[in-house]
Amino acid sequence: MKSYVVGNWKMNFSVGESSVYLHKLLQRTHAYRDIEVIVAPSLIALQPLSLQIDRKKIRLAAQTANPHDFGAFTGEVSFTQLRGIADYCIIGHSERRHLFHESDKQIRSSVASALRNQITPILCIGETDTERTFGETYDVLRDQLLGGLSGVSAEDITKVIVAYEPVWAISTTSDARLASPDEIASIIQFIRQTLNEHFGQEVGENIPILYGGSVKPTNAGAYLTVPGVNGLLIGGASLIADQFTEIIEIAKKVKS
Ligand code: PEP
Repeated sequence: MKSYVVGNWKMNFSVGESSVYLHKLLQRTHAYRDIEVIVAPSLIALQPLSLQIDRKKIRLAAQTANPHDFGAFTGEVSFTQLRGIADYCIIGHSERRHLFHESDKQIRSSVASALRNQITPILCIGETDTERTFGETYDVLRDQLLGGLSGVSAEDITKVIVAYEPVWAISTTSDARLASPDEIASIIQFIRQTLNEHFGQEVGENIPILYGGSVKPTNAGAYLTVPGVNGLLIGGASLIADQFTEIIEIAKKVKS
C-alpha cells in the first residue's frame, strides 16, 4: 500500500503566496511511486494551483465541499465543480465538525458526492478531550466512521481514505498533549477491525488509515511506524517548506 503525506493549509496563504509555496515544494519534491504527497490549499487557490501542479509529484485536495451538485446554495462550492481540479477532499475535519457543526449525515452525503465525482474522500474522525476523559473514544470513533461511510458501495469503499485525528492532539505546542504511538496503535487497530467487520476483511485491510495531530519532523518517523498507519495528515508543519519536505523524506525512508 502507498503512504500518504497530506498537508492541510487551512485558511492560510493568499493565492499568490500559495503559488509561490507550491513552486518551492515542487522544486524540493521528487515523484515517488510509493508515496502520495497531497496539499490542501484554501478553496480560492485550488483552481490556479491546478494549472501549476505537477501531478506526478503532488496532488491537490479540497478542504471541504458541498454535497449538492448545483443549485441555490449561496457561498458554497460543490464536488461536481471541483471535479478535475482536486483529486482528493478532506471531509469531516474536526474544525468542520465543531466550528461549523457538520453532522455525520452531512459528512456521509459529502463522502457519497466525492465518490460520485471521482474525488477521493479523506474522512477524518477523532474524539475530543472531553469524550476521551469520559471514556467515549471508541463509541465516538465508531459512530463517526460508520456515520460517514454507511451506504458506500462495495466498489467505492476501496477508494476511501480514513484519517484518525484526536482533536485534543491537534495543533498542540505541549509534548505532554501529543498522542503516544502506543495509544494510536490500539485506536488504529480498532478502526481497522471496525472496517473489517463492516466491509469485509479484504477491503478493510486495504483502506489507508492516516494519523494527524501535531505531526512534525521530530515525531513523524514514530507515527509512521505505528502498525496500520499508512500516512500522515499535517496542519501546522505543512506550512513550513523545510518541515513538510523533511516529513516526506522521513516517509520515504520508513517505506524503504
Ligand atoms: C489538522 O488540523 O488536521 C492537523 C493535524 O493540524 P496540526 O498538524 O497542526 O495538529
